[in-house]
This record gives sequence, C-alpha cells and structure tokens, in this order.
Amino acid sequence: QDYQALSSRYETMKYNRCGKSGALLPAISLGLWHNFGFVDHIHNAREILRCAFDLGITHFDLANNYGPPYGSAEENFGILFKKDFRSYRDELFIATKAGYDMWPGPYGNLGSRKYLMASIDQSLNRMGLDYVDIFYHHRPDPETPLEETMIALADIVRQGKALYVGISNYEPKETAMAASLLKELKVPFILHQAKYSIFERGVERGLLDTLEQEGVGCIAFSPLAQGMLTDKYLNGIPEDSRAAKSFTYLDKENLNTHISKIQRLATIANKRNQKLSQMAIAWILRQPQISSVLIGASSADQLKENVKSLEYLEFSEEELRLIDEISK
Ligand code: NDP
Repeated sequence: QDYQALSSRYETMKYNRCGKSGALLPAISLGLWHNFGFVDHIHNAREILRCAFDLGITHFDLANNYGPPYGSAEENFGILFKKDFRSYRDELFIATKAGYDMWPGPYGNLGSRKYLMASIDQSLNRMGLDYVDIFYHHRPDPETPLEETMIALADIVRQGKALYVGISNYEPKETAMAASLLKELKVPFILHQAKYSIFERGVERGLLDTLEQEGVGCIAFSPLAQGMLTDKYLNGIPEDSRAAKSFTYLDKENLNTHISKIQRLATIANKRNQKLSQMAIAWILRQPQISSVLIGASSADQLKENVKSLEYLEFSEEELRLIDEISK
C-alpha cells in the first residue's frame, strides 16, 4: 500500500540545533540498531519507520554493521526507503557509521582511511542513496593517527557522500582534538553520539562541557538503557523483550542488579503522570547540549508512547535529586 505521510507531521515535534551548526534534529530520533535486520519482520520495520516520520521524526540512525546479519539493517532500510520515502528524501536526515568490525581481514574495522572510504560506498549502495546526511566514525581507533581518520571523513564530505560528519564513543580529549582537526579541514563536525541515560552518566564527566566549548551537539544513544528504563521488566523478563533474545547485548545480570532501582524510578515517573520511558527521555532532554535523544523501538506503539515524553519536560529539584540518589 502506498504511503502518504501525515500532513500534521511537523505540528508537535520539537527541533533542536546541533551545536552551532545549521542542522536541526528532532528532539527524538530513531535508531535502527535492532529490529531492522534480516532476522526481524520487515512489515514491522516498515510500520515503525512510517509511524516515526508521521510523528515528525526526520532523523534515522544506521551503521554499516546493524542487523543481524551485518549490513542488513541498511539493506532493509534501502528497500523501505525506495517504497515509502524516496519522495521525502529532502525531509530526512539519514546517518550511517563505520568503526566496528564489518568485514574480514585488516581493512574492515577501526579507523583507517582504507576502511572508511570503502565502507561509505558499501553503505550508500545498500541503502540506495546518493549521500547520507551525516557520516560518523563509530569508535576511536587507538592505532590509526586521528589525522588520517579525520582527513578520510573530510574527503567523504568533499566527494559529496556525506553532508556533515560526526564521531561516536570518543573521550573528551580526543573529541577536542578531532574538533580542531576538522575545523582546520573546514568540515562541518556537528554531532557526537554518546551513550547517555539515567544509568549511564559518563558524558557528564567532561564530554558535554567539551562539546559545548566546541559548538558540537550531542545525540544520546541507548537513552532507555536498552529497555531497562521502561515498565517492561518490572515483573520479570517478557518473552518478546530484548533481554530474552538469544542474540542480545542486554546483560541479564546487569538487569537483575538494576531491578529495585527501576522500580523506584517508575514510582517517580508515576507521580509525574508519566511512563518510566517518558521520564527517562525527558530527563536527558533537560541538558542544553543534547540535540536529540536516539531511541530504539520494537513496535510503532512504543514509539508513540515515547514521543509523548515531550508533553512534560519539567523536573523539580527534588525529582532530580531523587533520580541521582537512586541511580548512584
Ligand atoms: P533504547 O535505550 O531506546 O532501547 C530501545 C529498546 O527498548 C527497544 O528496542 C525496546 O526493546 C525497548 N523499548 C523502547 N520503548 C519502550 C517502551 N515504551 N516500553 C517498553 N519497552 C520499550 O535504545 P537502543 O539501545 O536501541 O539504541 C538506540 C539507537 O542508538 C540504536 O538503534 C543506534 O542507532 C544507536 N546506538 C549507537 C551506538 C554507538 O556506538 N554509536 C551503540 C548503541 C546504539 P524490546 O525489544 O525489549 O521491546
């Protein structure tokens, strides 16, 4: 069935500037790490993407190795893009990345020019796109000179294969060095993609300050701690959850040690008339450096529920103090 985007799609979403750039991102973006691979149901993937765009989510985040198998999220996205979104290309902000292991041998991993140059071409091919809006180096490579990696990003922009560049999982010091190199190269470095949630506070120890100084935005990944910061696990591990999957990065032991914290956080959310997931998203958006909260969803309903977090973003001092106390 043909897809016609809702005409009301821009009425409720908020759009935030990425650092000091011209690029705006929706306060909530959609990541395709899970639920879009060949192991998943493409009908569900299609429904999620359509629902996202209808809600004003203009930003879709991919990487070369999302699936499983590797590459299959980009391939599925390519199929759905062609069916539903081709005529909306200029309304979309599409990301991909390279940096983790992707293909065998010495050239399919980390941060060499050889890897990045080949990977962007493969990604564009799989997605059936002429360019992505942002291309990221997915993680720092301690062996490759940072300059080589940054020049490769710059050349990818000059070749017209990406409009902006970003980095992910870099420490503050390397982030500042990357920013200075990219400034010299006159390439728009607009986003750092970092793990940030009530349970993962690493960015508060220097990264957000560095990004503010450099005029770069932050997009927060795994804001729901992969689903732990939702009502999902309050009464055990449901069969249809990420924690129950055989292929998963959600550590069950870690989940078990967090259960009482999750219950206490859910009580605070309840008092705010919010779901825990909604409070967890709003809590990240309180930081001025955050351009977008990058969520995952295994259904369109989850997405709808999560976007409602934008209806109530305020926090009292007391709520913030309690959340800190519980999450310590
Ligand atoms: P989240 O923390 O948002 O977890 C998403 C998962 O939580 C969903 O797939 C779903 O899992 C569950 N969930 C979401 N909403 C609800 C709800 N309302 N009620 C109940 N359960 C819910 O993010 P992800 O870990 O998926 O990461 C998001 C994106 O960030 C990725 O897709 C990717 O684009 C990016 N990322 C980047 C990384 C990097 O190194 N740069 C690393 C990791 C992610 P379930 O299957 O249990 O329903």
